[in-house]
Amino acid sequence: MPKITFKIDGKQCTAEDGQNLVEAAADNHVYIPTLCHMKGEKCLGTCRVCMVKVNGKDMAGCTLSVSEGMEVTFDTPELNDKRKALIEMLFVERNHFCPSCEKSGRCDLQALAYRFKMHIPRFRYRYPFFEVYSKVDKLMLEHNRCILCQRCVEFIRDPDTNRKIFSMRNRTNKSMIQVDYRLANKMSEEQIDKAVAICPVGAIIKKGQGFDEAYGQRKYDQHPIGYEVDGGTNSK
Ligand code: SF4
Repeated sequence: MPKITFKIDGKQCTAEDGQNLVEAAADNHVYIPTLCHMKGEKCLGTCRVCMVKVNGKDMAGCTLSVSEGMEVTFDTPELNDKRKALIEMLFVERNHFCPSCEKSGRCDLQALAYRFKMHIPRFRYRYPFFEVYSKVDKLMLEHNRCILCQRCVEFIRDPDTNRKIFSMRNRTNKSMIQVDYRLANKMSEEQIDKAVAICPVGAIIKKGQGFDEAYGQRKYDQHPIGYEVDGGTNSK
């Protein structure tokens, strides 16, 4: 693959021509936060937290491919405030009670709220009512915590038929993740563990497994989110 050069906030970066921007940035030690993109996987473009400016336009960074001479603006007060507003919207849209969540300390949404120094969201809480879906033998779906990133929809499939086990129901603020009960009951332990791990929040829970890491030893107790990319050089 030919190498190209591009800039993020004036910093000279190199990447493979056409590489995904979020991944190319990470290779150059710039952490562009995202709640839906997964390295090497198809872009979902659902959370928009990776927002950058290219040619004066706000765009989801994970939807962009880098090219020679591209100039990307990422770390500005305006873009960081928009990112923070998106994170705040996710908190008010459903019911996120971090102290009682099994994923607390390992949750990407919570970790980004810390990174962006969120205290009280600027938006009114909606407090919608959702029931926990617990009919599948080995997992539960906690709709109250779901941010509709669609990672589970795209990346967890039935190995025999490649059919989706999780899917989206309804649109706008009525959107919900639903589970194919029959396919979900066929999921292997590895698949369940993968579903729990790729869910960026605590919406997919493995039955019988709760708070299995001590406070102080959870993933984001050790280092803030993005640390493995930028070594903690950027607080946002
Ligand atoms: S259940 Fe988790 S992975 Fe699936 S859409 Fe909701 S937040 Fe994303």
